[in-house]
Amino acid sequence: MSNKVNLLDYDRKSLGEYFTEIGDKSFRAQQVLKWIYHQGVVDFEGMTNLSKPLRAKLEQNTCIKPPEIISEQKSEDGTYKWLIQIDGGNSVETVFIPESDRGTLCISSQIGCPLECKFCSTGQQGFNRNLTTSEIIGQVWTANKALGYFESDKRVITNIVFMGMGEPLLNYDNVLKAINLLTDDLGFGLARRRVTVSTSGIIPEIDRLKEDTNVSLAISLHASNNELRNSIVPINRSYPMVDLLAACRRFTEARDNEPLTIEYVMLKDVNDSIEDARNLVKCLNGLPAKVNLIPFNTFPGTSYDCSDMKAINAFRDVLIKSNIITITRKTRGDDIDAACGQLVGKVMAKAARYQKGHIELN
Ligand code: SAH
Ligand code: SF4
Repeated sequence: MSNKVNLLDYDRKSLGEYFTEIGDKSFRAQQVLKWIYHQGVVDFEGMTNLSKPLRAKLEQNTCIKPPEIISEQKSEDGTYKWLIQIDGGNSVETVFIPESDRGTLCISSQIGCPLECKFCSTGQQGFNRNLTTSEIIGQVWTANKALGYFESDKRVITNIVFMGMGEPLLNYDNVLKAINLLTDDLGFGLARRRVTVSTSGIIPEIDRLKEDTNVSLAISLHASNNELRNSIVPINRSYPMVDLLAACRRFTEARDNEPLTIEYVMLKDVNDSIEDARNLVKCLNGLPAKVNLIPFNTFPGTSYDCSDMKAINAFRDVLIKSNIITITRKTRGDDIDAACGQLVGKVMAKAARYQKGHIELN
């Protein structure tokens, strides 16, 4: 079983290459993708337009194995949180947030995260490894299955955000293949704007993402000056704010000035003053951006508090007066710890150091 390739690790191009390699036609990839992502069929017997010998060959050498749900929790507000089995002792969390006009699935890209942002529960938990493409796209397949998509054909998950556990741009190649499957008509067929990658600011990969995909980008800025950002988002020491904002401009220029999203977590007495808001306006000068203010979600052991509503509203008003579209993100699913930054899964942490360009495990 373990030496079988998992076909969920392949996007259209790489699956086509796989079929050529095994002496078949590359268009078989299209048939197989439709079975998996349109029909939800993951056993080869059910793929009736493939010949019997091909089905037998696939059965022998490959598998289609989405990750399994260990547990499901449903919040009072309709939000679901699934704990997804990855391997051995590791699991990650995936969250579904239904709203009147959309359904957003928040997916994980790594087991834990090596970047250690001070206000983030995942970051405080350590890092094990990158998720494979099958483990990333498998979260979407499994959530769709649980929500009945393959039976009814009615789309429940309309938007995907890479805002679960991990830093997606430190797992670029696997995330890119997952994005390809999300936006491919033979995959989940989502419009590019409905897929958002959130990053704490890995500049070289922001530039790659701009070239390789059309998806939306959200930047976890969280500070309005470099010194503060150094202390709460440590990756800023490798990729300083001024360079990050320049990369954001390159990104929006390549997208006809379509605004990107700036995420800003509201931490009481840390980054939430009127002066911070004014500095943020200056930072964003000339950048097409909308701002999402995220009320800080607490977790065991943190020393941070969420700003009071009064401070959040005053901060928002400064931005709005400067013509910056600003939304305060609603906290969803906090009764089941499914809100931003509360996702923990189970991470068998190994000591990891982030060095520019790659993660080093000790
Ligand atoms: N690693 C990526 C994506 C995952 S985090 C990133 O950092 O962008 C998704 C969002 O939740 C980020 O904006 C992150 O900064 C924010 N976040 C992390 N911890 C939080 C917390 N405790 N409360 C509110 N938002 C938090
Ligand atoms: Fe990692 Fe994002 Fe959490 Fe920072 S906020 S530790 S980058 S998951």
